[in-house]
Amino acid sequence: MVDLHTHSCCSDGTCTPEQIVHMAVHTGLHGVALTDHDTVDGNAAFVAAGRAAGLPALAGVEISAEYVNPETGRAGDGEMHILGYFPAWSPDTVAALAPLAEIRRNRAERNPKIIARLRELGLDISYDEVQRLADNNVVGRPHIAAVMLKKGFVRSSKEAFDRYLGRAAPAYVAKEIFAPERAVGLIAEAGGVAVLAHPRMLGISSAEVLRDCVARLVEYGLAGIEVYYTVHLRTHVEQYRALARAFDLVMTGGSDFHGRNKPDIRLGTALGNLHVPDECLAQLLARTDVTK
Ligand SMILES: [Zn+2]
Ligand SMILES: [Zn+2]
Repeated sequence: MVDLHTHSCCSDGTCTPEQIVHMAVHTGLHGVALTDHDTVDGNAAFVAAGRAAGLPALAGVEISAEYVNPETGRAGDGEMHILGYFPAWSPDTVAALAPLAEIRRNRAERNPKIIARLRELGLDISYDEVQRLADNNVVGRPHIAAVMLKKGFVRSSKEAFDRYLGRAAPAYVAKEIFAPERAVGLIAEAGGVAVLAHPRMLGISSAEVLRDCVARLVEYGLAGIEVYYTVHLRTHVEQYRALARAFDLVMTGGSDFHGRNKPDIRLGTALGNLHVPDECLAQLLARTDVTK
């Protein structure tokens, strides 16, 4: 089996790219891919470690894109994740993916903007306090809410979101991320294979709505779908396999390993129930050869 969805300390995991390769070797995996959030910084070391260890180690990325579920109309914080795989990793690929820095910059600026708004509203709270509380995790609004709770500005995290941080509340700052077509297009133009990550996490209940969503992404250049994922039940796997057949998509899968930041998720097997067949990696590599 293989694992085509992992995060290193270059995004929000805790292992280095080299450690992931070594763990994959020790776990007996037949291939592994690195898919850090909105950054490709770990790929060069990852690919080199794979070559040294004699293990297929595929360069990749996971890009956050905006998503509004038409069933709920929930705009703002809805996210869709698009995985990108780059078998021909080179400095040209790195250059082509430079626009990812925009997503990272926007994310880095968002939390300080929220803190500034809270201060304008008279709440004495600093970004340092929030960062300390978040420890080495990626800072998010739940950490801001926790500091507000600790300092007695609110009586619960829910109140922090209702009165200050939630959408339409006074300290709300919208996320600035890519539209799905831009994320898919960026990967395709950089010579990669774009794959819809963990479709179940989109929260779509209707098969027709998901099908329309996939159809639209295919128009932009989507070439794969993450069929195997730890929270995908048998019925989901069947549904996603059918979509893959209908739209001629590569089927992929992976654990979403984050090291100690998601301690229950193990490389390869995730919660113990994941088995991603070698064929997924073979399909992915074959697809790239065709598109080049
Ligand atoms: Zn994801
Ligand atoms: Zn992920």
